[in-house]
Amino acid sequence: MAQNPSLSFDNTEIAFRSLSDAELLRAYTLFRMIGFRGLVKIGPRILTTAMRWHLPVSGIVKHTVFKHFCGGESIEDSRPMVDRLGRFNVGTILDYSVEGGRTEREFEAAAKEVMRTVDAAGEAAAAGKNVPFTVFKVSALGSHRVLEFASLGVADGQPVPPRLKADYARVHERVQKICQLASERKVRVFIDAEETWIQGAIDCMAEEMMAKFNREGKTIVYNTVQLYRTGRIQVMDEQLKRARDGGFNIGFKLVRGAYMEKERARAIKAGLPSPIQPEKSATDAQFDRAAAWCLDHLDVVSFCAGTHNEASCLAIADGMARRGLARNDLRIWFSQLLGMSDHLSFNLAAAGFNVAKYVPYGPVRATLPYLFRRAEENTSVSGQAGRELLLLTKEIRRRGLGGRRS
Ligand SMILES: Cc1cc2nc3c(=O)[nH]c(=O)nc-3n(C[C@H](O)[C@H](O)[C@H](O)COP(=O)(O)OP(=O)(O)OC[C@H]3O[C@@H](n4cnc5c(N)ncnc54)[C@H](O)[C@@H]3O)c2cc1C
Repeated sequence: MAQNPSLSFDNTEIAFRSLSDAELLRAYTLFRMIGFRGLVKIGPRILTTAMRWHLPVSGIVKHTVFKHFCGGESIEDSRPMVDRLGRFNVGTILDYSVEGGRTEREFEAAAKEVMRTVDAAGEAAAAGKNVPFTVFKVSALGSHRVLEFASLGVADGQPVPPRLKADYARVHERVQKICQLASERKVRVFIDAEETWIQGAIDCMAEEMMAKFNREGKTIVYNTVQLYRTGRIQVMDEQLKRARDGGFNIGFKLVRGAYMEKERARAIKAGLPSPIQPEKSATDAQFDRAAAWCLDHLDVVSFCAGTHNEASCLAIADGMARRGLARNDLRIWFSQLLGMSDHLSFNLAAAGFNVAKYVPYGPVRATLPYLFRRAEENTSVSGQAGRELLLLTKEIRRRGLGGRRS
């Protein structure tokens, strides 16, 4: 029986109240376009080639997909979005979305930019603005090769080869510097989860940072748990034991996981069992169990549910009500990506829950991989795009913006 009769995600007036009529119509057109699988399949290739040939397409991207899914090209550019979301009690998580760095110079530059997001979050909080977290990917700070070798070391004790030791030490130092700054600025920081073959090293560094900075009742560092992976709740149990023994707090961001096809393909190629749950319903069940697990261990655990799944959000809200927890309990957050599932973010925030959206930013060209992934995951008409279109259509009709839309 639902414990939150007043919580509903159907209210499109609340869901889209941050969008002007023009923005609403633009979002509708965009989701219609990315609903076409063929277009999304060839689009990235056409765009990448056009940009390589210096054809003037970046303006088109900037005023369409980029404008919908990103805050701007820089932190400064993204400030109006921080204010706009903040007006409706939705927080911002500045996400520097430049991927694919290869050189030490690029890794160092990425680390510096993440530190700027920490500073920006600290300053925003001091000015009474809602920028409750910041975020980074460890793979932006060092090469996959180094992280892969270090992960082998975590799994079966193989040492990092001497030629990669200095590179690994630099990645570690960058992670440490970011977390140290976050601790000084009292800004909570998410460490994103990535592919299983580099995740061992990420988990190891994340726990080390939690043990260092999540002290005296504070939870600064949050590691991400992908619930599409098998055996994750056991890993959470083991970590909880170490946290209790070591006297530190745990921060978890719970997600289902973004690399399913890649993971499965790699396991097949290597002749290994897949690390991913056999079916969607098993992932869903594990996600909801993990969230309930967090609610049961709030003496040590704080968490954020990074999801666009309505049933999971409702289950967490119900679990909170059953345990007599306040909706604005600061140990519990919900998060969605900018431009997606506003019906969850804005309705949850209006009902008094803690919500923040990832607001990606970066130069248009450098954010293309991020934008292609958003387009790709929105192609399924039965999934996200279909739901977004239904909601947008309902709101367009409610506002009397005319035209026949189906
Ligand atoms: C704020 C936020 C932060 C995020 N951070 C990360 C991150 O750090 N790392 C990361 O990997 N992802 C991250 N994601 C993406 C996330 O992992 C999901 O890919 C995405 O949110 C879709 O899942 P969902 O919970 O929204 O719900 P749904 O749309 O209900 O679930 C889709 C997900 O279910 C799983 N799934 C689908 N089909 C199957 C199947 N046949 N068998 C098993 N499982 C299946 C997959 O994980 C798929 O992505 C983040 C998402 C958000 C909103």
